[in-house]
Amino acid sequence: MSEPSVENVVIVGTGCAGLTAAIYTARANLNPLVLEGGQPGGQLTTTSEVENFPGFPEGIDGFMMMDNLRKQATRFGTRFQSTLVTEVDFTSTPRKLICGGKTILANSVIIATGASPRMTGIPGEKELFGGKGVTTCATCDGAFYRNMDVAVIGGGDSAAEEALFLTRFCSKVYLVHRRDSLRASKIMADRATSHEKIEMVWNSSPVAVDGVEEGAVSGLRVKNTQTGEESTLDIKGLFVAIGHVPNTGPFAPPLDTDENGYFKPAPNSQVQTNVPGVYVAGDCADHVYRQAITAAGMGCQAAIEVERWLADQE
Ligand code: NAP
Repeated sequence: MSEPSVENVVIVGTGCAGLTAAIYTARANLNPLVLEGGQPGGQLTTTSEVENFPGFPEGIDGFMMMDNLRKQATRFGTRFQSTLVTEVDFTSTPRKLICGGKTILANSVIIATGASPRMTGIPGEKELFGGKGVTTCATCDGAFYRNMDVAVIGGGDSAAEEALFLTRFCSKVYLVHRRDSLRASKIMADRATSHEKIEMVWNSSPVAVDGVEEGAVSGLRVKNTQTGEESTLDIKGLFVAIGHVPNTGPFAPPLDTDENGYFKPAPNSQVQTNVPGVYVAGDCADHVYRQAITAAGMGCQAAIEVERWLADQE
């Protein structure tokens, strides 16, 4: 059987970081192959309005922005393949990416696999996830809870954003946070705490989701962290917005990660890894900034590094 051809650069992931890397490497005539996994377009496809990406004074719909990035990457010749990387061999040259039964060979690799929503792990959460009332995406599922009471768990920008979005449909939105002040940026925190439909449930940790036997969320039990007292919020929908875990999957090891599980770039670099020719970009390697614009910036950096690295190998 003939050996598969060797790709110049394979980019894993189609969020802001992956697609920006695709645009840059495609424009540099490197003919990139982009592998897209289970959530094409990444996290921004589940965001309603992106208000802080420079160049869009009126804001832009998250899905539309990712669609535009994809079109831009395609325009310069990027190829896309829908497949999941299950295993890698970075000891060999070229590098090997194993996707199910198929092996892709690559002279260089950019991993931009993003991050996935973190879950609380409380009883009932897993059982009622999906169409039964527990979700991590207000943009996707908010409209199902028209005129109902819902709760959002979390205290960051995501939780504030989800809660504000849900006010468009829901009668009441409880914002359940384990401390007495939000971690969210001031503008988002002010908007959420002053909204008439949002009721803050401070100093409260989630304990369990009710409704498992009935197959639909009927309440959220919370415990006051100061008094230990438990109470139940009468809700039909629960939106979990407590941050993300990096998708390092089959790449770590061999790639180094930090104590939080994020890819750990080599010293003096944001995107180089401990394996020559293998780069990382975006939320899978950034637990500090985690913005669309910083992910795009890392994608650009990785693409320029790849270009230089490939030139050095010639
Ligand atoms: P985050 O900032 O890490 O906030 C996570 C929140 O969840 C924190 O308030 C945390 O509580 C709480 N939490 C964590 N584990 C918990 C648990 N087991 N039970 C209950 N609560 C728990 O995550 P994020 O809100 O997803 O934001 C991530 C990044 O994206 C941030 O940099 C943010 O600024 C950015 N972002 C920006 C926008 C925007 O600008 N429009 C929108 C969304 C996100 P503690 O506060 O007590 O730690």
